[in-house]
Amino acid sequence: MVNGVHKITREEAIARLEREPIVACRLCAILDTRDQVLAEAELASVIVSRFPVRWGQLIVIPHAHVERFSEVSPLAWAETSMLAFRAASVIERVLSPSRCYVASLGTSERGVPMSFPHLHVNVIPVHDPSERPREVLTWQHGVLDADPAAWRALYDRLRDAWG
Ligand SMILES: [Zn+2]
Repeated sequence: MVNGVHKITREEAIARLEREPIVACRLCAILDTRDQVLAEAELASVIVSRFPVRWGQLIVIPHAHVERFSEVSPLAWAETSMLAFRAASVIERVLSPSRCYVASLGTSERGVPMSFPHLHVNVIPVHDPSERPREVLTWQHGVLDADPAAWRALYDRLRDAWG
């Protein structure tokens, strides 16, 4: 584990989310506050996940609130894909994972635990090459948190590498 980084349980992560103000869309709210934005294009932004399943997980979010691929403009998807490509490249350079998962996992269905209806793409560094997607793409094994210095160091390293 990276210095200053520790695991919290799925239940603790859910409890933390539930203590946050209720908003119509959590990803729209994150885009509004801009405090986790690592990089942005005209139609999409990249943020550092605050509830990462692996340290350094990034999320690419189209700016428009869209819930299905059929609602995404081709241009917004092109920018989202380009940012995901750059995010994966930066993760490879900074964190040297053995794999980098790039996945859109959300659903427009309401009431699905830990799934946001706002379409987005996760970019996740995976260090154990034997780990399968079902072991990584879940909160069942907990999520990561860190002390402020470790969060800052991660952000700075990724930001420097982004260029
Ligand atoms: Zn939204």
